[in-house]
Amino acid sequence: MTRMLISFMILTLGISANAQENPEGFAIVGGMLIDGYEAPPVHNAVVLVRGNRIVASGPAHEVQVPEGTPIIDARGKSVLPGLIDLHIHLDLIGHGDYDEYYNFIGGTERLDEMMPIAAKHMMRAGVTTAVDLGSPFDILAVRERIRTGEIPGPRLIVSGPWITRIKLDGVPDSYQVVINSPEEAAAKTHELIDTGSDVIKTWLGLTRDDLKAVVAAAHSRGVKVHSHLYKVPAMEDAIAAGVDVLQHVGSAKMPPYPQPLLRKIAEDRIPVVQTIAHRIWVYPATEANPGRLNTPELEADMGADVFAELQRSFKNFRALSYFSDTPDEIRLSKINARQFIDANAYMGVGTDAASPLNFHTEAIWREMSALVDSGMTPARAITAATKTGAEIIDMGKELGTIQAGKLADIIIVDGNPLRDINLLDYVAVTIKNGEVWYDPKYETNALKAIGRAF
Ligand SMILES: [Zn+2]
Repeated sequence: MTRMLISFMILTLGISANAQENPEGFAIVGGMLIDGYEAPPVHNAVVLVRGNRIVASGPAHEVQVPEGTPIIDARGKSVLPGLIDLHIHLDLIGHGDYDEYYNFIGGTERLDEMMPIAAKHMMRAGVTTAVDLGSPFDILAVRERIRTGEIPGPRLIVSGPWITRIKLDGVPDSYQVVINSPEEAAAKTHELIDTGSDVIKTWLGLTRDDLKAVVAAAHSRGVKVHSHLYKVPAMEDAIAAGVDVLQHVGSAKMPPYPQPLLRKIAEDRIPVVQTIAHRIWVYPATEANPGRLNTPELEADMGADVFAELQRSFKNFRALSYFSDTPDEIRLSKINARQFIDANAYMGVGTDAASPLNFHTEAIWREMSALVDSGMTPARAITAATKTGAEIIDMGKELGTIQAGKLADIIIVDGNPLRDINLLDYVAVTIKNGEVWYDPKYETNALKAIGRAF
């Protein structure tokens, strides 16, 4: 077994170097437990954690807390599995314009400074696991810094550069692999996996045969393929080729999707990640409250020059090219989003954060809120972002629900998101792998003793 494979397995098992940060463990007591199963919540619950694992959970009268165990008081709060974002971009921090952003950071020169900002933003939002779909392999070094506990961030599954027939101008070459034939597609897929891709992302212009070649190569290595898709013929090609996850479908000004296609996707339980909020909900939210572009939470983790550049890019956000089609998208995507939900498609949650104005600090709750606006119940949206998300990345045995034996990825939220999903904006504590991080607003002696403030 190669060293790379071993380190990948260690990563996917979620065993981090400082997993034994709280070897004696701690108990989360008195909160309302939403376990990820789309089941009624457990009131006055206890979750017992030791090392990086959950060892018990349930109603307070059923779970014994050993004497001397540090207690995190969760009364008045909700306790949920850590959130799983199935579509992020760790290189981005919400800048208004991609070309200007890459100029500002010198291509890939300052990526090692931007990625930790994004990673910390995600932890603030309660995202404990994320799939990065399109970064240069610079991301591997940042992932290692997160894994060893040097910097806070989610557990990362990465695609590395995407595979495409159409070159995207404006991003550095190390973001993309351009292919011209199925043979080349297969060879590049193997190369990417050899270099460090955990999943493969396909982008634009691939033929059905290209996709078949990518899928065959990836599957021969036990790797899944995520495809960037909007149009019906592209979706049909991807499904015929055996692509594993349909990304973006239902999120851009497409006419309503045909029922037989929706039915096939739902019946075959082909995972769908819509990414609906990033334009359609984010833009109106910004018009309603431009103050969301300038918050202390956003500023806290970035250098002064980065924050100033971000603010400059937002000056005339109505004119940003990213949002030029938003009125059409709002009209059509609201229909598309609902179609997949009504068909009961097998859906995880992804945000495309941090595309313009779509900050990692809030992308996940906005996406979940958009799913609720489009017909999901809050409980279903939470399950999509936890249990189903874990299943889609083949980590359902380790992550996604709160129960004994699973990794201790837990968030504590101030309020009841089953009543109002937007309350997921108030993440007080984010626990990943038993490591405790908290918003200083919610500091207690116990949190100070066992955790770290953001
Ligand atoms: Zn994306």
